Amino acid sequence: MTRMSGFGETIFAEMTRLADQAGAINLGQGFPDTDGPRSLLEGAARYVREGGNQYPPGQGRAELRAAVAADRAQRYGLAYDPDTEVYVTVGATAGIAASVLALVEPGDEVVLFEPMYDSYSAVIALAQGVRRPVTLRPSADGARYTFDPDELAAAVTPRTRMIIVNTPHNPTGTVFTEEELALIAQLCRENDVIALTDEVYEHLTFDGVAHLPLAALPGMAERTLSVSSAGKTFSVTGWKIGWVMGPEPLVRAVRTVNQFLTYTANGAQQLAVADALRGELDWVRAHRDALQAKRDRLAAGLAAAGFAVGRTQGSYFVMADIRPLGHDDGVAFVRSLVHQAGVAAVPAQVFYADQNEGRHLVRFAFCKRDEVLDEAAARLRAWGRR
Ligand SMILES: *Cc1c(COP(=O)(O)O)cnc(C)c1O
Repeated sequence: MTRMSGFGETIFAEMTRLADQAGAINLGQGFPDTDGPRSLLEGAARYVREGGNQYPPGQGRAELRAAVAADRAQRYGLAYDPDTEVYVTVGATAGIAASVLALVEPGDEVVLFEPMYDSYSAVIALAQGVRRPVTLRPSADGARYTFDPDELAAAVTPRTRMIIVNTPHNPTGTVFTEEELALIAQLCRENDVIALTDEVYEHLTFDGVAHLPLAALPGMAERTLSVSSAGKTFSVTGWKIGWVMGPEPLVRAVRTVNQFLTYTANGAQQLAVADALRGELDWVRAHRDALQAKRDRLAAGLAAAGFAVGRTQGSYFVMADIRPLGHDDGVAFVRSLVHQAGVAAVPAQVFYADQNEGRHLVRFAFCKRDEVLDEAAARLRAWGRR
């Protein structure tokens, strides 16, 4: 199918396969190796036993929509009608796909930041939209990745329909500042552009840096679809329970498409997630703090092995520069690293439209048990000393 040409096996699948074959520690794909809160797991089992096993309503269980709306109101002061402005999807991935398919016409341009999460390009291609990437690069002080405001402004044209904003950002770990979001918001307002936000790491920010939803900026609530999910927040990435929030006409468009994609999502798990949103945010805060320590643990290990390590403000990932180790091709590097060191990572190149960008960068996931991170660090140190 021509629209999907160029989208073969993802590097995540390839690296996981190579890691399994080589018996390597998999710091490639971003999934935790510990479970979410006990009450969440037991809640899902209980709701299954109690008979929550038939089709939930298409827009999602009322309990979850109400919990999502209450949570958004409490933490960000955003008001959504749970009946018409909150829509439950099969993970954030389906929410993003349905949003793009619903709102992007053939030939419409979609501005997004690269490196970018891999599903964005694929759904833009399915919608026959045109991707307009703006590259995030290390700031002058090297502290974090950011964009050049002029490059962003130049990317927005009369053909721009949508901008996709992922913050906290996978893979760079950047959390967009209020200033950065204000620039994006201004461009959206001036050019009548719809914003689609991917906020799956909204709770997982470090060093006191706060996540700010783009929808909270002036004039943005009426033009923003915000997407989040239980997977990263509660360490249940296999559950695939996500939600889309936005003004009724935009959510209706998403719903119109999604009723023919997945129609609805696992009902028992929706009920369990609703309870967790109301009762387990303390668990999430402790989890965030633990992840911050894991970030530091892995970053120190990578630095000791000779990588130049980026600063991560949020998400599951650190970006590491392989040039100090005498390499400059991330794809070749991770393929040999998995065999030579027994550690799998992901080359950042796959997150860029222009494959020359990010060639020297490799992404490592730190959402793993401490002993796993320590073993990976030891293997990398031993390998670095060869
Ligand atoms: C993990 C991830 C997703 C997928 O979320 P699901 O709820 O599992 O579909 C989407 N966006 C980003 C940036 C992610 O890292």
